[in-house]
Amino acid sequence: MHQMTLAEIARGLADKKFSSEELTKVLLARITQLDPQLNSFISLTEALALEQAKAADARRANGESGALLGAPIAHKDLFCTQGIRTSCGSKMLDNFKAPYDATVVAKLAAAGAVTLGKTNMDEFAMGSANESSWYGAVKNPWNLEHVPGGSSGGSAAAVAARLLPAATATDTGGSIRQPAAFTNLTGLKPTYGRVSRWGMIAYASSLDQGGPLARTAEDCAILLQGMAGFDQNDSTSIDEPVPDYSASLGESLQGLRIGVPKEYFSAGLDPRIAELIQNSIKELQKLGAVIKEISLPNMQHAIPAYYVIAPAEASSNLSRFDGVRFGHRCEQPKDLIDLYKRSRGEGFGPEVQRRIMVGAYALSAGYYDAYYLKAQKIRRLVKNDFMAAFNEVDIILGPTTPNPAWKLGAKNSDPVAAYLEDVYTITANLAGLPGLSMPAGFVDGLPVGVQLLAPYFQEGRLLNVAHQYQLNTDWHTRTPTGF
Ligand code: GLN
Repeated sequence: MHQMTLAEIARGLADKKFSSEELTKVLLARITQLDPQLNSFISLTEALALEQAKAADARRANGESGALLGAPIAHKDLFCTQGIRTSCGSKMLDNFKAPYDATVVAKLAAAGAVTLGKTNMDEFAMGSANESSWYGAVKNPWNLEHVPGGSSGGSAAAVAARLLPAATATDTGGSIRQPAAFTNLTGLKPTYGRVSRWGMIAYASSLDQGGPLARTAEDCAILLQGMAGFDQNDSTSIDEPVPDYSASLGESLQGLRIGVPKEYFSAGLDPRIAELIQNSIKELQKLGAVIKEISLPNMQHAIPAYYVIAPAEASSNLSRFDGVRFGHRCEQPKDLIDLYKRSRGEGFGPEVQRRIMVGAYALSAGYYDAYYLKAQKIRRLVKNDFMAAFNEVDIILGPTTPNPAWKLGAKNSDPVAAYLEDVYTITANLAGLPGLSMPAGFVDGLPVGVQLLAPYFQEGRLLNVAHQYQLNTDWHTRTPTGF
């Protein structure tokens, strides 16, 4: 039962092969049995799950239908869930029960999805390895000595290990696509503004975007359908109609123009990944796509720009965690300054503290122009590169990551080494573009992802290309041994 995709579950429920309650019980038992190896969940919501499953079964019995009605999912632990701990992977919020549901959570619940729990993540979504969580590192089900990627590593490890079919995640600089690549999943970061950020605890507000992590493009289409849409509570949410993402999956790729940036194949890319990317290009050519070499000349500046802008926004966003209004408060503060200092010093881990310091520095008088303003100018150049490229091609293709998943602890002493791993993903966030990662093969038994980027609001196109690719390849069907 646990091998079923969301699409298969929807068919099984519609055909009355099993009930949502039965399926939910099977998956909850599987999580209890297998998750101690992975640490992919921070909280299990068993009572809520069973209640939602029964309600979904009753709705189906009353003639209702829907791809998500009775479908088990989990939420990354930065989506607020009413009355349930929403920790953001931090000691700071270990005692925080959200007073309301995030829009994404409410929408999926209304569609009948069943919440099994809240997944582990890098603290405040800062990281690429899921090692900065206060609840401990998450392990990669493909090799328990390796990281699953971050910051949505809990969602990724859980779905890859078949603990559940799909989960929500967020992507500020790659945190949906990179863990998807590291765990053999399909993950989509939507256009900025496509999915509401209301109730999604902010890391870097101009970059953060929620999206689906699942095994197939078909399932990402189903989950995105339930997440996307205008929300008047989020002033950056876009009032554009949501297309039927499942309806366009079957479109032909004949004549599709795919751009491959020459900058992507630099010395930093593992040659074995380069080869797998070339194979995926050949596969898409067989399906009728036309390949064109393009250039993204400002790509080299993207990492430094991102690692100024994201910490700057984080330093501002995280100022609300002051020991007064939310979360951790130190014991017996002497005065207000002592309360701030010790509550924040005790509540935040080292990576979060580093980012707050970098961000506050970049925004300070005298340094603002040199760092923050300069980074914003680079951001515009990165966007202009994409706009020029999309005049010539429909989709941009390349690797999701320069290397496969590294060993736990391998980059802990050198944060910049981890930042450099984001080279292929962060440009989409700087420009606000949609991007998808899908399985493209294996290196030393570890999964490799191919990334597709598209113009604004072309999520349907990304899912269509990925679905056609998955109809003709079987990488996405591989299951990690032991799961
Ligand atoms: N690795 C990037 C960072 O640490 C991206 C994280 C994310 O997308 N949430 O900022």
